Amino acid sequence: MSIERIKTLIIGSGPAGYTAAIYASRADLKPVLYTGMEPGGQLTTTTEVDNFPGYPDGVDGPTMMVELQKQAERFGTDVRIGLVTQVTFSNSEGGIHKVTVDSNKEIEAESIIISTGATAKYLGIPSEERLKGGGVSACAVCDGFFYKGQDVAIVGGGDTAAEEATYLSNICSKVTMIVRKGKMRASKAMQHRVESRDNIEVRYFSEIDEVLGTDVVEGVRILNNQTNEKDEVEITGLFIAIGHKPNTEIFKGQLDMDDAGYIITKGKTTDTNCPGVFASGDVQDKDYRQAVTAAGTGCMAALDAERYLAGLE
Ligand code: NDP
Repeated sequence: MSIERIKTLIIGSGPAGYTAAIYASRADLKPVLYTGMEPGGQLTTTTEVDNFPGYPDGVDGPTMMVELQKQAERFGTDVRIGLVTQVTFSNSEGGIHKVTVDSNKEIEAESIIISTGATAKYLGIPSEERLKGGGVSACAVCDGFFYKGQDVAIVGGGDTAAEEATYLSNICSKVTMIVRKGKMRASKAMQHRVESRDNIEVRYFSEIDEVLGTDVVEGVRILNNQTNEKDEVEITGLFIAIGHKPNTEIFKGQLDMDDAGYIITKGKTTDTNCPGVFASGDVQDKDYRQAVTAAGTGCMAALDAERYLAGLE
């Protein structure tokens, strides 16, 4: 197996990874970036991005990611298609971290920036899969605006669903919130916010039986899991807010994580418990999860890596 020694390895190609790459390459850390299985990350599954500063007319997600890649390459980032399959991190200051790519290439890196992101959970029913991008979305803050003045539904009963239902109620005419149990898991404060809105209807003991529509969402069929009765509600947008899963499987046992698997970073930095290993973007943030906040922490990770490497000299 060939072994390559580098200064900085960036794992992941969303806004956090590419922003880390822009900063790291400008600081002459000669970064190598592996894209992972979904080059461009979650934004490549979004259509229009209207909330990233600097794009007054909006930009579509895939285009934005191509531009970020070009910007990183302009300063010398070596962007490679490949999946990191195994890591062995050093626990000592100045130690070398070993990473296997595609099970057949070994990289030895002095510093590593993890930007592997998180994946939104979906219900997993065929009609939902078919209408992704045609009215089914996992991000109300990203896509809610497209349903201005229309009726929408949101699935989930956690803080995200409650927050997004409240957000949507400011934009849409009616929001149907579909909660599978008889109560919400969201905090009391968030529940009160939902209850205070006249245009949110919460339907408990309810599950989506099918998303209706051929090319675009036209409605949902809802199953009451107590009575087994079904009824249909006309909507144009369906938001899934049943949680995210951070992409941290390969780091388990080596990096400190919270109960949900998000990497724990120290204080205001991107430092992990392994010296020289930094985490940025959604992989360490379950609260904000925006392209611009991911980009911000990507910048921080590159600066932290630069300072770490400078401190070793
Ligand atoms: P949670 O895991 O807290 O909640 C997920 C919700 O989705 C639950 O109501 C769950 O139902 C429901 N659900 C899960 N799977 C399905 C399914 N297959 N079908 C239908 N419903 C399903 O995720 P969140 O994203 O809401 O929150 C993640 C974390 O982030 C939490 O710790 C939360 O507190 C935090 N957060 C905090 C915010 C804030 O403080 N402002 C804002 C957003 C998130 P059930 O209860 O039945 O399991």
